[in-house]
Amino acid sequence: FTFDKSAKIFVAGHRGLVGSAIVNKLRQLGFTNLLLRSHSDLDLTRQSAVEAFFAAENPQFVILAAAKVGGIHANNTYPADFIAINLQIQTNVIDSAYRHGVKKLVFLGSSCIYPKFAPQPIPEDALLTGPLEPTNEWYAVAKIAGIKMCQAYRIQYNWDAISAMPTNLYGPNDNFHPENSHVLPALMRRFHEAKVSGAIEVVVWGTGSPLREFLHVDDLADAVVFLMEKYSGLGHVNVGSGKEVTIKELAELVKEVVGFEGELVWDTSKPDGTPRKLMDSSKLSGLGWVPKISLRDGLVDTYKWYLENVKQ
Ligand code: GDP
Repeated sequence: FTFDKSAKIFVAGHRGLVGSAIVNKLRQLGFTNLLLRSHSDLDLTRQSAVEAFFAAENPQFVILAAAKVGGIHANNTYPADFIAINLQIQTNVIDSAYRHGVKKLVFLGSSCIYPKFAPQPIPEDALLTGPLEPTNEWYAVAKIAGIKMCQAYRIQYNWDAISAMPTNLYGPNDNFHPENSHVLPALMRRFHEAKVSGAIEVVVWGTGSPLREFLHVDDLADAVVFLMEKYSGLGHVNVGSGKEVTIKELAELVKEVVGFEGELVWDTSKPDGTPRKLMDSSKLSGLGWVPKISLRDGLVDTYKWYLENVKQ
């Protein structure tokens, strides 16, 4: 097939962190025929609506970045939403894409698909080798089902569906909700608000000792386009930066980038989650792709976006 600049590409979830970065990347590269639908125009949890959309529009390529996502607190509070909405969206989109002649689909998930005590760095074949981290198992089970669905359609129908599993992402258009977001945007907002109000302390959850790997979403978008062009294997592909920091180091760096001068206070009544989550991204680097944006540069970029958009 030709993934050329006029290819009709449906980017599902184009308003989100991942989808918006992918749309920007495709536009920068000169792709002109992007098919986008906001939630109010197309509810991806409704099978009949998704079927009708594919029948009417016939996209050639699909990037599936629509999902119900959230941090440790949101996953704990809304388990039914996390499992049901994600299973519905991905099942509807993957199956309709296959039935309506889509040439290739990229399914996006996350590193939380891996067992809580997977070997570090986590290779792709650690999938389904042990119990999941309980705080995000609802989301993880749905995403694992999505990977398996892509594999099953490849095996049974020889259909070109691939899966990419990014590490913790951040960047413009992230969710900056104070309780339900991931650590990086939550801290950015909290430090910013503390700086503006003149507060002397900022509360950070947990012990600060868990290790996390972060990837700027523009790097992920670049990797997704790369995989769309270069990869058609059965197995999913990890997409990470290869660099990890403790939550304490992250908090200090965000504090510095935002320019907050007070103290950090650790609320150890909040869960730490999994102790370490570093992906082994050597499969992707072996294919020829490496990330370009450092954590510090990425934080500066994200804070700039936050300042421009904080009123909305
Ligand atoms: P995880 O990577 O799936 O565990 O998700 P999170 O991004 O929600 O949390 C990562 C780590 O950051 C956990 O150890 C949290 O306890 C810690 N953390 C510290 N402060 C915050 C915060 O304000 N919000 C969130 N979501 N996590 C925080």
